[in-house]
Amino acid sequence: MARYSGPSCRLCRREGQRLYLKGSRCTSPKCAMEKRAFPPGQHGNSKARRPKVSDYGQQLREKQKLRRMYGLTESQFRLTFGRAVRMPGVTGENLLRLLEMRLDNVVYRLGLASSRTEARMMVTHRHVTVNGRILDIPSCQVRPGDLVSLRARSQRIQPVQMAVNLASGRPAAPWLAVNLGALSGQVLQAPTRDQIDTQVSEHLIVEYYSR
Ligand code: SF4
Repeated sequence: MARYSGPSCRLCRREGQRLYLKGSRCTSPKCAMEKRAFPPGQHGNSKARRPKVSDYGQQLREKQKLRRMYGLTESQFRLTFGRAVRMPGVTGENLLRLLEMRLDNVVYRLGLASSRTEARMMVTHRHVTVNGRILDIPSCQVRPGDLVSLRARSQRIQPVQMAVNLASGRPAAPWLAVNLGALSGQVLQAPTRDQIDTQVSEHLIVEYYSR
């Protein structure tokens, strides 16, 4: 299935939670979750309560939420889950770790892009290097020790400057050594669950795929 290209804020309103899909707008009063924190569509309105959801419904919503946060298609997400199952350890944590260590997510976490969508575009447009070499595959898994940076000519582009300004006001991920001055950062280790601030109940996603 093709990548979703509709209104991003609609996805947050559906999940009833900020998914941070639009960079600086997400932390501003313009965020749709400030003004219209009710489900989208004809039957969603500010007075209607969210209907009671079945166990299956909760599992589905949790899966959709995580998939939308990281901008994956259903088939990409399912493949990633399959990899998480085959890895040793707790499947839900493995899934989050695999998502966190995608190159596009690392570019976002380093503060070189203001959203994961923008990070993905920077990678595909060949602005990003890993250990000094251009890497244009957003789903590529980084490894501990990898140095992620921007090409010299990419460092002056306006979205990068805006992203850096935004990132300088928020704490860096503890598993990354961020150097915003040099527009680069190093992966120190694979993140543990407590180092991932994604608000999701991953056990519900494991249950969803175990049906
Ligand atoms: Fe979601 Fe950001 Fe839109 Fe707010 S502004 S609803 S967090 S995408």
